[in-house]
Amino acid sequence: MFQFKLVLLGDSSVGKSSIVHRFVKDSFDDFRESTIGAAFLSQTIKIRDTSSDSTEDTVIKFEIWDTAGQERYKSLAPMYYRNANAALVVYDITQQDSLSKAQNWVNELKNKVGDEDLIICLLGNKLDLCDSSDNGDKRAVMTDEAKVYAEEQDLLFYEVSAKTGQGVKDVFQSIGEKLYQIKKEE
Ligand code: GDP
Ligand code: MG
Repeated sequence: MFQFKLVLLGDSSVGKSSIVHRFVKDSFDDFRESTIGAAFLSQTIKIRDTSSDSTEDTVIKFEIWDTAGQERYKSLAPMYYRNANAALVVYDITQQDSLSKAQNWVNELKNKVGDEDLIICLLGNKLDLCDSSDNGDKRAVMTDEAKVYAEEQDLLFYEVSAKTGQGVKDVFQSIGEKLYQIKKEE
């Protein structure tokens, strides 16, 4: 079975742990305790291999490192992104500042790891707080602003909600398909 290392990076409170828990446990906690150091979870997904004659799905395994966003843990980050196959760089759509923090992470990844061997995915989280009539629209980062940046930098880009689950599975599925494709071509 193919295994891929994933790392989540981004400012604290943007919802990194919530995204991982939505994906792995399909649950959400409004009062999640902030991560200390880093947390490790693993999860398998099925990939449909359309190029082969087999009708069997291929199973791949993600080993997910969910890092803490706090400044005091920043020096530990290279331990988690080193040898990673994909990095999910998360910002909070309702916090403009969290996008610049995400951009700093993208720069650091490109400087230290290099583009070629790492898939970087920019994720805007807390989509449920945007465009909803009962909450009011708390959006601070326009979709286009992040999308244009992601295209310039050649990143995957999605807006998601760990709370409702919107988009979360799709992110991991498409990262898995991309990684599987690359692995097969090796
Ligand atoms: P982390 O520090 O990046 O790991 O962020 P957490 O996952 O601990 O989440 C920080 C806070 O944001 C918690 O109170 C979560 O309940 C909340 N949160 C996370 N994701 C979402 C989301 O998609 N929507 C909303 N409304 N709140 C979220
Ligand atoms: Mg966390």
